[in-house]
Amino acid sequence: MSTKNKKVMVVGGGIAGLTAAWELSQFNIDVELIEKTPFLGGYAIQYCCKATDECRQCGACTVEAMLKNVVNEPKIKVHLATEVGKINNSGRFSVDLKKSSYKPDSAKEGVIRGSPLHVIVDKEICKKNPDVCPEDAVELDKIGFSGKLDVDAVILASGFQPFDAEQKGTYGYKKFPNVVTGMDLERIIRENATVVRPSDGKTVQKIAFIQCVGSRDENLGNLWCSQVCCPYALRMAERIKHKNTDAEITVFYMDIQNVGKDYAGFYEKCKKDFRFIRNIPVDVFPMENGSLSMRYMNEEDGLCINEEFDLLVLSVGITPGPDNSNMSDLFDVGLNEDGFFAGIDKLNSTSTIKDGIFLAGTVAGPKDIAASMAHAGQAASEVIKHLGVS
Ligand SMILES: Cc1cc2nc3c(=O)[nH]c(=O)nc-3n(C[C@H](O)[C@H](O)[C@H](O)COP(=O)(O)OP(=O)(O)OC[C@H]3O[C@@H](n4cnc5c(N)ncnc54)[C@H](O)[C@@H]3O)c2cc1C
Repeated sequence: MSTKNKKVMVVGGGIAGLTAAWELSQFNIDVELIEKTPFLGGYAIQYCCKATDECRQCGACTVEAMLKNVVNEPKIKVHLATEVGKINNSGRFSVDLKKSSYKPDSAKEGVIRGSPLHVIVDKEICKKNPDVCPEDAVELDKIGFSGKLDVDAVILASGFQPFDAEQKGTYGYKKFPNVVTGMDLERIIRENATVVRPSDGKTVQKIAFIQCVGSRDENLGNLWCSQVCCPYALRMAERIKHKNTDAEITVFYMDIQNVGKDYAGFYEKCKKDFRFIRNIPVDVFPMENGSLSMRYMNEEDGLCINEEFDLLVLSVGITPGPDNSNMSDLFDVGLNEDGFFAGIDKLNSTSTIKDGIFLAGTVAGPKDIAASMAHAGQAASEVIKHLGVS
């Protein structure tokens, strides 16, 4: 069947949505890409490259490459700062779009430089920080699309949210400045090219990582493995060690997951470079010099140890996206018991019980960048089958 006039809406402009949109466009299908923030790339566009002497295949650069493909592809129309308001399914989908209510929540986020489409600023924040606002920037209030669309299929690719580390109160996140998450560490390295302590800007020497924060946690009801925390924390730790050979890195863990290609060899190298302690610290206390005292149990004799670190990194996991519940009602597609969108079955996690609605990426459960891209490719293939396009 011809692809003429076939149109698909992709909701979410992270790596999964970008990949799905791009794959569809290569089959001559028109794509409307709806993104609620004023920038594309989702979480993955915010990561730093974790190469040492060799590429560590963290996937960060693949996101930038896909983003360039998408913004240069005329078959894909991007709507930033936009959300789906209503949807009607009567054969085709009739969609009402509205300006999203997204607002940056800090002066730093007020100037959003991540998008190759625009430099976008928040007028209110710029009034207070005129020096950081470029003259030719687009105002946040001036973007966002309201209107109607008719589409033949929908791909939901609205992603995940990193676990909110404040829920693990004993680690002192947001209370003690030198307790950061894996997400914060990405930002610190991108901004400073090295790891500095948030409290005083000093280069850190002694760093602790705590794994599985918000994952595999019965008390929280989050029983799943997030798939990404072990690889990202160890790649990050190797990168830090590569730049600063004196850095002392300790990884507190329950189980190191063997995820990804060449991971076993990589883990062996990590075991030589870092100290691994199979125990999760129970308490973290701030010290006068800004360091953190952490209490954990010695593996050998079961005695409690208090040890000082310059920086604590919480390896936060993947949890369901904040809009999942609303979107589930809007699109009439169910969520699984963990709160991610449910695919039709284990073998086909990109199709849903709703004809014409498909899933791509972490909206359907934890995945790394490569797996999200593969999932999005599969979703695009299912859409193509559904449209009867050959
Ligand atoms: C701390 C951390 C570090 C990580 N590091 C790595 C790494 O080094 N390598 C790796 O391979 N993986 C890593 N990951 C995993 C990686 O972030 C994910 O695999 C990837 O971001 C998934 O992409 P996505 O498109 O599914 O979701 P997202 O990145 O969440 O993108 C979803 C997009 O949808 C948009 N959206 C949400 N709701 C709506 C809505 N209602 N309407 C319109 N748009 C909406 C969002 O704004 C966002 O742009 C890491 C994860 C974490 C938590």
